[in-house]
Amino acid sequence: MLPALVPGLRVRQWPDLGDPREIRYLAAWTIPPGLMTDLPDLGFALSIGAGVDQLDIGAIPVAVPLLRMAENAIADGMIEYVTMAVLMLHRDMPHYLAEQAAAHWSPRRRIAAAERRIGVMGTGMLGSAVLERLACFGFALSGWSRSPKDMPGVRCHAGTEELPAFLAELDILICLLPLTPETRDILAGPVFRQLPRGAAVINAGRGGHLVAADLLAALDSEHLSAAILDVTDPEPLPADHPFWCHPRVLLTPHVASSTDPATAAHFVADAILRHREGKSLPGLVDRAAGY
Ligand code: NDP
Repeated sequence: MLPALVPGLRVRQWPDLGDPREIRYLAAWTIPPGLMTDLPDLGFALSIGAGVDQLDIGAIPVAVPLLRMAENAIADGMIEYVTMAVLMLHRDMPHYLAEQAAAHWSPRRRIAAAERRIGVMGTGMLGSAVLERLACFGFALSGWSRSPKDMPGVRCHAGTEELPAFLAELDILICLLPLTPETRDILAGPVFRQLPRGAAVINAGRGGHLVAADLLAALDSEHLSAAILDVTDPEPLPADHPFWCHPRVLLTPHVASSTDPATAAHFVADAILRHREGKSLPGLVDRAAGY
């Protein structure tokens, strides 16, 4: 599909690269060791996922722009997943699933969406799309990012100094951060303790954001009510990991969203054409920030 979108483009698949000096653009999930030194004429390197944490960024020469897949279909998948997870928590599904297994009939009072406080850590491409869609239900929304934001209908917080205020007012915390040295292990005891008692957590960022032992302690002490985890560290979890059968943990196998080859081809074609024309590149990664 890609050659049809970019005049004159020939696609080579590693390890059959032919003469590596002819390679102008590299799209990869991970980069085989030593490959970069064989590619002296790269116009850009592209992560085929929305994140770049799986890449050895240091192996990519600073002069080579690093891009990530920042296309709408990834946001569409994430909107579906997070909306499902939020509605499951909002409508007490972890409780009803456990009650069904025990053959119990125990209705709970429905809480109005406007009373349910939902916060998204990471209000970038995915977090902002999720917040926009959750607004349709009338939830009380807030967001937390590195730099200050102004989003209609969303209480915006920025930086570590505003993290406590953000956490203190949440019933459901959603992590859609990139995994960087600053955000690794962020979903841990100190953050959980700042959430109101009974809050729930959704992690659709990366498994490395979560300290599993701290989540288990927070669930078992009933400070947190439930967790929905799409990502874990490692993936998959070992068969004896307590998350598999914890009654208040719902696990999915890193399926919240993914790159759709058809729409991704349009993103890559656009990036190549823009590079050829000397225009700004889409999905440019800030190497210093790590995302
Ligand atoms: P973006 O780069 O568009 O947004 C990242 C957001 O996180 C930004 O708002 C950024 O703040 C914020 N952020 C980064 N570092 C910090 C920090 N130290 N403190 C506070 N806020 C911070 O990323 P995307 O929205 O496209 O993707 C987010 C992540 O989602 C990906 O990196 C990937 O790990 C994960 N993902 C998971 C998938 C799944 O299937 N489970 C699928 C796709 C992605 P600022 O706006 O100020 O820069």
